[in-house]
Amino acid sequence: MNAFEATNYYLSRASAIMKLGPHVEKLLLSLEAEHHVSVPIERDNGELAVFSGYRFQHNSARGPTKGGLRFHPALDPEDVRALAALMTWKTAVVNVPFGGAKGGVACDPSQLSQGELERVTRKFIERISQEIGPQRDIPAPDVNTNAQVMAWIMDQYSRLHGFSPAVVTGKPVELHGSEGREAATGYGVICITESFLQDIGKSLQNATISIQGFGNVGLFAALSAHQRRAKVVAVSDVSGGILNRDGLDIPALVEFARSRRLLADYQADGVSRISNDALLTCDVDVLIPAALGGVLNRDVAREVRAKVIVEAANAPTSPEADEILEQRGITVIPDILANAGGVTVSYFEWTQNLQCLRWTEKEVNDRLRQIMTAAYTTVRGLVQSRKLSWRTAAYIVALGRVAKAAMLRGV
Ligand code: NAD
Repeated sequence: MNAFEATNYYLSRASAIMKLGPHVEKLLLSLEAEHHVSVPIERDNGELAVFSGYRFQHNSARGPTKGGLRFHPALDPEDVRALAALMTWKTAVVNVPFGGAKGGVACDPSQLSQGELERVTRKFIERISQEIGPQRDIPAPDVNTNAQVMAWIMDQYSRLHGFSPAVVTGKPVELHGSEGREAATGYGVICITESFLQDIGKSLQNATISIQGFGNVGLFAALSAHQRRAKVVAVSDVSGGILNRDGLDIPALVEFARSRRLLADYQADGVSRISNDALLTCDVDVLIPAALGGVLNRDVAREVRAKVIVEAANAPTSPEADEILEQRGITVIPDILANAGGVTVSYFEWTQNLQCLRWTEKEVNDRLRQIMTAAYTTVRGLVQSRKLSWRTAAYIVALGRVAKAAMLRGV
């Protein structure tokens, strides 16, 4: 099953329980638009390079589409379809007024100079500039894109259409970005983790956690968990992982990662090396995959020792693995709920931009917590009352909202 088939499998499973019927399901299984573009740039050495760019819009029944841009050499259309659909369900679970989209460029930013990266970004936006817009489709950061890339997007779009900060979110705070956006996804992941642990009579304090991926999401999840006195025992990045059963020094690791160094080069007393695969099967209370999709496959699922998996990454668990984990009694809090903090604060950023307002970090974080807690409570209600998995319950909540909006607007 590829990533898009997997997302649609979850959708169909929820739709069958809801008895939505084939018409609605058919509507929601397909994408509204798929924009494929070529992205030619001149390399620093004068050669021409041409990359593939994508912006796919899944469903806009509930509002303008919204979703990140990923720069990754392995990005392909199936991934983008799946990630766009996930954004439709995610925005609906947290009930922010957007649909779902995703996009990116199949390139390896580690092989590009800063100037080349800027040219890739600007050319890509030039090519899709008619397809995005503050009331149409609003990109945001994802893997290998950051606030600087979002600043170039805002500037390039504004050159073509007039000053438009609301065309993209995740911008630097100095350029109409929102306080709290950078930390939002990781912070939201830990809000959800804390709520779940409380519900099962445990506490985040002293809970052991392993986190795969130490980029935007993983780093802030680690920091937030550490600030709430959880014990983060293992983290990893593309270069491999590190482990300390007594708890890693997260503030030191954050400083280390911010100097753009890889964890393979990190050294400290009590720290040993582990592979990314070993990290997924560490004996911990909470496993947080926060890197790429598909890492929890059938084989890994049989070996996982965590009591709960909180999906910070998009689509980290294959449907086969999901079933095995359920049989083994390991709870999986799905991506469309767990990592929705990012799009929630993106919604705040868009709202602030449209109103020319600026909220404080406290206002942002308080509202974020409120929305994440409300979504968690709604999904938990279905888990408990209908004895469903967290994923199926979250899809039912999302599907109900999107289907209703689509029917009210009319096909
Ligand atoms: P990022 O580029 O900032 O960080 C990615 C991290 O994963 C890096 O530490 C990188 O070294 C690591 N990594 C890459 N390939 C790996 C591999 N093969 N094995 C182990 N680690 C690997 O990206 P991000 O924004 O933190 O996104 C991480 C995940 O979270 C993605 O699945 C993304 O779709 C999802 N997500 C991101 C946001 C957001 O706001 N940025 C919101 C929701 C979901």
